[in-house]
Amino acid sequence: MSTRPRIAIAGTAIESSAYAAHRAGHRDFRTLSGDDLLARYPFLAPGEPLREAAEWLPVFDARSIPGGAVLPEVYAEFRDRIVSGLRALHEDAPLDAVYLDLHGAMSVVGMDDAEGDLVAAIRDVVGPEPLIGATMDLHGNVSPRFFEQVELPTCYRLAPHEDAWETRERAARNLVDQWRTGTRPVRAWVPVPILLPGEKTSTRVEPARSLYASIADVEARDGVLDASLWIGYAWADEPRCHASVVVTGSAPDVVAAEAEALARRMWDVRDDFAFVGPPGSLDDGVREALASTERPYFISDSGDNPGAGGTGDVTWTLTRLLAMPELTGPGAPLTYVASIFDAAAVEALAAHAPGDAVDVTAGARVDDRVSGPVRITGTLVSLTDGDPDAGRIAVIAVGGLRVIVTEHRKAFHDVADFAAIGLPVADADVVVTKIGYLEPTLYDAARGWTLALTPGPVDQDLVRLGHRRIQRPMFPYDAFDTDPDLTARVIAPHDGAPRRTRDEATA
Ligand SMILES: [Zn+2]
Repeated sequence: MSTRPRIAIAGTAIESSAYAAHRAGHRDFRTLSGDDLLARYPFLAPGEPLREAAEWLPVFDARSIPGGAVLPEVYAEFRDRIVSGLRALHEDAPLDAVYLDLHGAMSVVGMDDAEGDLVAAIRDVVGPEPLIGATMDLHGNVSPRFFEQVELPTCYRLAPHEDAWETRERAARNLVDQWRTGTRPVRAWVPVPILLPGEKTSTRVEPARSLYASIADVEARDGVLDASLWIGYAWADEPRCHASVVVTGSAPDVVAAEAEALARRMWDVRDDFAFVGPPGSLDDGVREALASTERPYFISDSGDNPGAGGTGDVTWTLTRLLAMPELTGPGAPLTYVASIFDAAAVEALAAHAPGDAVDVTAGARVDDRVSGPVRITGTLVSLTDGDPDAGRIAVIAVGGLRVIVTEHRKAFHDVADFAAIGLPVADADVVVTKIGYLEPTLYDAARGWTLALTPGPVDQDLVRLGHRRIQRPMFPYDAFDTDPDLTARVIAPHDGAPRRTRDEATA
């Protein structure tokens, strides 16, 4: 048996709202391969124990901030690059494992279960022998096809995802540790018929905090390697969209029992999931912000949060803010409004200098489902260039409002995003941004907050969106007369035989 496994690395990441008019294409994705891909992982830096524990073979990775569904030709190209790269490596010398860095909620136009399609294509090319592990977002989904192919799936345990890198490292370590045992893992899956938005399942608050904290106890049990709980993705409309529990390990009875117990714990607290921040209408948020003595006050424009799959050019909120004299008249509070993307509007603004009076129509070029383009009449404050996501960014003053218009899609989810365009968050009275729960630096900066339940592609009112293809009954959409079946589906190694090692396989 060789001393180090050959492990290929590949990945795709996007979270795609089925309700967004945006379509994700090449410009949305940043791709990596070769040494650049390997360098993405700090725990695989030269000298790190995990780096030395295996021969890591980077193939291809494509990731984007969340958005709409991926164009089919773009997905096909990514899949081809991964599959052909794996084929070449595997022909060179048999692979021992494949490490997949996935989000798990990618939608592709005209296709269900995109990650299931990807892992099936990967299994086709590498065959039954290599272990497949996946590190995922807890807002990803587990489908039957995915579960059948991926032996060591795991996901984040915090939302916001402050444990993203820790999770990736755990997934890599699990793969190496499992390979060292010379056996295949047992895995148990329990689909849980609950579909909730991330804003009701943040681990900053109960019941998700205790639920996720209990995973450490599961993982400590003899016979358990890893335990994971997926919330699932609420803004796609596919049969795979629901919560899931997967426990992996060596003891079939233990992993099954622990998976069922974790699923049962989630089901039992289903009525306790509530918004992580104080919810309200946009009007409620503005009223609270104006009354607040503590600054800055944050308002989440949650219906078009690009971080959850919003398009990012929905004008519903901006249109209303521009019509509020208390925000645009004399003595109005300094209010940042992030953001609307509109390349044509930025191009028109680029003909001006800061200080110029400007009159521009922006937004709703892509997503005009809940409101049309908005006219902004004010003074150009600044025009910056070079943001890797947004390109050029214009700031227009209208009374106290500082309206941010970008050339391309961008999420303003960090104080650095605002500071980079001369709008320090600490100086603002009010910050309105397209976001759901506040990401860490904004959370720390906020002295007051309303989670505004605005309409858009990631509307928090899921019933208003009208899912048609998710499995039913589903909590909270349907009443349950009896408890759902929370029996684990278990996949144990064929006939309990040890996994063939590379040396045996090639002998
Ligand atoms: Zn997530």
